[in-house]
Amino acid sequence: NVRVRYAPSPTGFLHIGNAQSALFNYLFARHYNGTMVLRIEDTDVKRNVPHGEDSQIENLHWLGIDWDEGPDKPNPKYAPYHQTERKDLYHRYIEQLLDQGLAYKDYATEEELTEMRDAQRAKGEAPHYDGRWYGKSEAEQQAAEAKGLKPSIRLHLPANHEYAWDDIIKGHVSFNSDNMGGDFIIEKSNGMPTYNFAVVIDDYLMDITDVLRGDDHIANTPKQIAVYEALGITPPNFGHITLIYNPKTRKKLSKRDKETLQFISQYKNQGYLSEAIFNFIAFLGWSPVGEKEIFSREELIKLYDPSRMSKSPAYFDQNKLDWTNAEYIKKLDLDDMTDRVLNLVDEGQTDIAKQVQGLQLPDLRGFTKQICKIYQTEVYQLSQIMEKIVWYSNILDEVIDYSQLNQFDRNETLAVLKSFRDHVQDLQEDAVVRDFNQIIKDVSVDSGVKGRNLYFPLNVSFTGSQSAPQINEILQLYSTSTIIALLNKAIS
Ligand code: GLU
Repeated sequence: NVRVRYAPSPTGFLHIGNAQSALFNYLFARHYNGTMVLRIEDTDVKRNVPHGEDSQIENLHWLGIDWDEGPDKPNPKYAPYHQTERKDLYHRYIEQLLDQGLAYKDYATEEELTEMRDAQRAKGEAPHYDGRWYGKSEAEQQAAEAKGLKPSIRLHLPANHEYAWDDIIKGHVSFNSDNMGGDFIIEKSNGMPTYNFAVVIDDYLMDITDVLRGDDHIANTPKQIAVYEALGITPPNFGHITLIYNPKTRKKLSKRDKETLQFISQYKNQGYLSEAIFNFIAFLGWSPVGEKEIFSREELIKLYDPSRMSKSPAYFDQNKLDWTNAEYIKKLDLDDMTDRVLNLVDEGQTDIAKQVQGLQLPDLRGFTKQICKIYQTEVYQLSQIMEKIVWYSNILDEVIDYSQLNQFDRNETLAVLKSFRDHVQDLQEDAVVRDFNQIIKDVSVDSGVKGRNLYFPLNVSFTGSQSAPQINEILQLYSTSTIIALLNKAIS
């Protein structure tokens, strides 16, 4: 039975890189009808941020990633799921390794270790722990204790030993113990286990069969295998997922890359659909056979094949993201699309959402739905719908560039606009729209203008843009007096 885990540290919010690991674990679990575990790796207490955990969970849910076991769904056999609640378990194994002489106490101070590394660098060596406390006597340890020193605990690595594994993604990988920085810390002097130790104990005790994580962890894996070997247990399978790269710098995406959205909440607030983001991320480091790129969650689960995970960097492609999102927006039912936009407005997480909140439209839903209807096939982010809401509800105060009208014969343009005004003037509030086709015919006859020369001035007058969508739909956003005012502005 396949058991995988996603193991976030609550040291920040859900980043696209985290989401990528979570998503591939999810696809792996669901594809093989296995179990997905959520484990919170919170031992780096100083780096944990308030709401880091809640917000990561909320964003995973938004993405449609769920799990079978975790803090909110404990299985008594494996709970608890927070590492800080599992300290006793780690201690038990630390004691075992100390008793067997496979781990030892290191009383070296921070200053001493810095000095050691500086000296190594000066000699042109890679900094490493030189094993100075390995094999020290009980008496020497007691003397250090008497000085008030608190030890950290290190795992002893055998010399010139290969730690190798067949990576699900990268193929055969091996490290030599002589190049791993020396005996490494498994428990810090504050009594907390290190990541490389806790992760092994947890993966072992939680019966994890496959560990899929970012390839920034590849140098940790030999250390973890060393712990497995010391404990005499068999490691799980490992697969290291390529990180996401910035195509411009060709380096891994970093928090400093300001032009790329990094956190899942930002995508959400910007109006990317969760289904689209899921689809997009699934292609960061994986692809199915064939050219097709739009797949539902269920299709992805079915198609997922770990042997098609990529060894090479996954480049973040903004155009592809926008294209993917646009494809998903096009498929939305109009009411659903409207609900999603209104949801963003309610949440008010962006400036544009706050602006819409401030509009106080009498029928925000109707107005939003009409804008969705007009622009559904043109936008690639729902925030663009909010921009249109602001624009059209403020149209009388917006700055329209009437110089666009100069491309056409001024007399013809005036004839069209005035004739339209005449036909609208004596209509009831709601009559304009219903009679739009008739009005257009009449205006064409009266003015003697047809085709583009006829529509262009109306587009500019009513939307501010020359390449506007159907005017009859636009006019439904306006009262008759607004229509007349817009025509008057364009005429003057
Ligand atoms: N807590 C680790 C991280 O967030 C998990 C790494 C792993 O999956 O082993 O990077």
